[in-house]
Amino acid sequence: MIDSHCHLDLDPFKQDWEAVLHRAKKEGLTRLLIPGTHPRNLPWQRNIFLAASSCLPVDLALGVHPYFITQDLQPSDIVRFLEAAFSCDEVNPVAIGEIGLDGHIDTPMKRQKDCLNVQIQFAQERQLPIILHHRKTHHLLFEALKETQFEGGGVIHAFSGSKEVAQAYIDKGFYLGFGGTITYARGAKTKETLAYVFEKHPERILIETDAPDMPMQGRQGERNSPEYLGEVISSIAKQTGATKEAIDKLSSDNYYKCFGLSAKSL
Ligand SMILES: [Zn+2]
Repeated sequence: MIDSHCHLDLDPFKQDWEAVLHRAKKEGLTRLLIPGTHPRNLPWQRNIFLAASSCLPVDLALGVHPYFITQDLQPSDIVRFLEAAFSCDEVNPVAIGEIGLDGHIDTPMKRQKDCLNVQIQFAQERQLPIILHHRKTHHLLFEALKETQFEGGGVIHAFSGSKEVAQAYIDKGFYLGFGGTITYARGAKTKETLAYVFEKHPERILIETDAPDMPMQGRQGERNSPEYLGEVISSIAKQTGATKEAIDKLSSDNYYKCFGLSAKSL
């Protein structure tokens, strides 16, 4: 199974990420993607990427997450950071992300949007997919995709929303990342959407933990971890009537297609 979104480079994993990876591998994890959050985390991402590939294949994405768009970070700084990171050939990012718009933070939406658009344009120029973060911002993300005329697809990470919203992203070439939310009884709308996507567009389903955030049901207050990805698979299997093996295979195949990878590439 492949964790398509896991922040193993963040502080909660700083002491024991290697042990976490080994345990996750025992649980059946075969690969994971570490999205970018902030320029200062790139060295950590790179360390894990280089060290972990002996244990598990790790893919990297680069980008600046809306949480880290501070007053002193200009859109031009972000572009400079991305250009510098891409010019070193030690890492080979598979996507631009995690980027997006968050409706629950104080950073003005105009500024978030300016920083998002330059990163989408960067992805467009490099012909890379994007990893999008949303929170009460689907309408604004569609606006940004339109403004930038982005056609490269990618994934809407931690998808929650209606069937109509899901379909609109699918029509634009996106995959949908399902994680902890669907393990909770209260995620009724997203579960309904999952059932719809599973029936109509199973080729667009990805799975993720978003660790250390988004703990699964029964683990509230704990650090989330790629070790628990199997709980997302079990939950999808239970809700769709498919076997866990089928969900594992489906989501892994989809992952390779989404990021233009072949199963063997490290
Ligand atoms: Zn994330």
